[in-house]
Order: sequence, then C-alpha cells, then structure tokens
Amino acid sequence: MCIRDSANIIGGLLNRGYLIKKGRAIRASDAAFTLIDTVPAAIADPGTTAVWEQALDMIETGQLALDTFIDKQAAWVTQLIAQYRGTSLSIKIPEGPACPQCGGATRQRSGKSGPFWSCAKYPDCKGTLPIESGKRAAPRKRRGGPKAS
Ligand SMILES: [Zn+2]
Repeated sequence: MCIRDSANIIGGLLNRGYLIKKGRAIRASDAAFTLIDTVPAAIADPGTTAVWEQALDMIETGQLALDTFIDKQAAWVTQLIAQYRGTSLSIKIPEGPACPQCGGATRQRSGKSGPFWSCAKYPDCKGTLPIESGKRAAPRKRRGGPKAS
C-alpha cells in the first residue's frame, strides 16, 4: 500500500460515484452512505473503528508496522467478501434530474472526467448533464405541503 494506491482507490471511488469532489474537498455520496448501511455490521461497528484507531496510534508510535496493519485489514476484508459473495446489494443510486433534451429519466454514468448524468435512453438520446457536486442532484420540487415556514 503506497500513496499512489490510495490515490487510485480514491480515483476509483470518484469514478463510481461513491465520492464527490467539492472544490478541493471530497465527500461521500448518497450511494456511499447506502453502501455503508448495507455492509456487514462488523465493518461499520464502532468497536471495530475503536480497534482501528488504537492500531493507528500504535503505528504512529512505531509499535505496529503500517504494512502489517494493512495486510491484516486486507485479509479480514477478503474473508468478509468471500463470506458475503453472492449476497445481492441494492444500492440506491440518487435519482437524476430530467434529461435536458427529452425530459426523460437520467442515469449516473462515468466518463473520463468523472460521473455525469446521461439520458436513460442513450444512445437514442444523447442528453447529458453535469453532476453538481456538493448538492443533491435531484431538483427540489415544491410539493405545496402543509409545512409553513
Ligand atoms: Zn433524453
């Protein structure tokens, strides 16, 4: 595991729409939160996080080698993946805005410069929209609800 690997992982997550660039910051997308909700509880367990933080402290003080930690994590995650292989996961991909050309539904797709909205009827319709990072992509519709502010 080196910095370039991390950059590749982050790049992959950006391409898949799990991470969204907002200026110089990166935030998790709705799809990422859905994934976090769905992963085996052990991964999202606060106890697990505490153990990791302890391990990171040990790395900082030189009691534990970073590579050892990464290797252990990799082995554990690989085991979890094997265990959950075949389990289907329904990830809520945020609903796109209306197609600018035909007004139909759009889907999130990945291009060279990252994810964007593309018409669901592609290639019949080539309407696309950029994804506005940091904002919910779906336009807010006022439903005229009873909430008065
Ligand atoms: Zn269209």
